[in-house]
Amino acid sequence: MNHCFAVDKSLGTLAKWLRILGYDTISEPEGAGSEFYARLEDDRILITRTRKIQKMWGAHHHVFITSSRLVEQLKQVVGQIGIGRDDTRPFSRCIHCNIPIGEVNKNDVYGLVPDYIWETHDGFNRCRQCKRIYWSGSHAERSREMIDNLFS
Ligand SMILES: [Zn+2]
Repeated sequence: MNHCFAVDKSLGTLAKWLRILGYDTISEPEGAGSEFYARLEDDRILITRTRKIQKMWGAHHHVFITSSRLVEQLKQVVGQIGIGRDDTRPFSRCIHCNIPIGEVNKNDVYGLVPDYIWETHDGFNRCRQCKRIYWSGSHAERSREMIDNLFS
């Protein structure tokens, strides 16, 4: 299932992690307040740990986060939405811009990544917005461990 999320500003790390898992995830910009929530698309699932926001959102689909620990927060989202490991597309989205990253030619990134990375990798992806380049392994080993742990 292709879910998309809106995350309140107190849960910035959780938002980043939902993008790492491949989900379209927007977060409340600084100072946006209620306008941000008023403009959300109907199918966006709200993730909050603020009662006021939960009330404002009314009957819309949401997850109310109860833990302050990232791992528990992720487990809560995965559990309540019913996300399985096969539903996720890890490392397919720019974690800064929230848009899917696309494959680029190895030759096109020569000089843009460290030499040893260029020599030892064949697959590269780039975000068309911020131009960041991703390759397998550019996400820390820790990220993979986290995903394993989440679905174990
Ligand atoms: Zn980007």
